[in-house]
Amino acid sequence: QAKQQGRSGYAFFSNEMREHAESRMRLLKDLRIAQQEQQFCLFYQPIVDLKTQKICKAEALIRWQHPQKGLIRPDSFIPLAEETQLINKMGEFIFTTACNTLTKVQATGKQLQLSINVSPVQFTSKICHLSKWYKQLQALDLQAQDIVIEITEGLVMNAQPRTQKRLNALTAQGFSLALDDFGTGYSSLAYLKQMDTDYIKIDKRFVDGIADSKDDLALCEAMIMMAHQLGILVIAEGIETYEQHQLLLSAGCDFGQGYYYAKPMPEDALLAFISDNEKLKS
Ligand code: C2E
Ligand code: MG
Ligand code: MG
Ligand code: MG
Repeated sequence: QAKQQGRSGYAFFSNEMREHAESRMRLLKDLRIAQQEQQFCLFYQPIVDLKTQKICKAEALIRWQHPQKGLIRPDSFIPLAEETQLINKMGEFIFTTACNTLTKVQATGKQLQLSINVSPVQFTSKICHLSKWYKQLQALDLQAQDIVIEITEGLVMNAQPRTQKRLNALTAQGFSLALDDFGTGYSSLAYLKQMDTDYIKIDKRFVDGIADSKDDLALCEAMIMMAHQLGILVIAEGIETYEQHQLLLSAGCDFGQGYYYAKPMPEDALLAFISDNEKLKS
């Protein structure tokens, strides 16, 4: 009896492991197909000037249009793409697509800064695609300042020489830099200033609580104050209510992003949003 239990216990464990491995393999196979068949697209989420609520920036967020499963959000495939280096090719697609969108926006006579998320793997992998970006921009007649590279705190704090070199090259070329998910990791603002950071993005988990928790509000206020003293601008993420908007505006926060203003949307909707937003607020 005991032997049988032991066996079934073992069998259960191994089934679970096998299932996990199999679902990873399936996802990886699907990801490779997706890349060949170009099933990825970018959505764009407006970022507004808190004082005027006018759109002045947007963040590009990748989506996977899966033929059976529909629209898939990045959290469920970016980690595997990073582990398998597929992220490098994906990163090329993201940069090129974002640049094309920016060209379309500028053709309407509007100014916009476009943020893209760059994975730590793109900074550490052997082959570096980042070095081609500046030439690509020039070919499209775009300014490097109009592209904001979003990186995470972790990348900066544990930067290897290779990462440091690539990051320095991008900022020297004039690309803007934002620290994403700020406050969730270990971070020193003085160090960020040294990295030539233009923006910090206060993570949603701090913004969530500001209307109910004095501590969360105090944390946001402190981050904003310190950033400003160092000449760094602040974008608050995940603003969902009028109350949160008002509190951040009073705290001196510069920019806001969240469902309260707009959800991520396809390119054509972004173009429409920009022209409507101008009409509404002017
Ligand atoms: P992130 O860069 O911090 O992006 C913000 C996330 O918060 C987005 O989720 C956005 O849709 C969501 N969000 C914005 N406002 C609100 C709000 O008011 N309420 C709620 N509940 N959510 C809000 P998304 O698009 O699912 O992306 C998740 C993460 O995946 C991103 O976090 C980023 O780390 C990563 N990611 C997205 N696109 C890319 C990409 O093109 N490349 C890379 N390497 N990573 C990406
Ligand atoms: Mg981001
Ligand atoms: Mg700079
Ligand atoms: Mg974030």
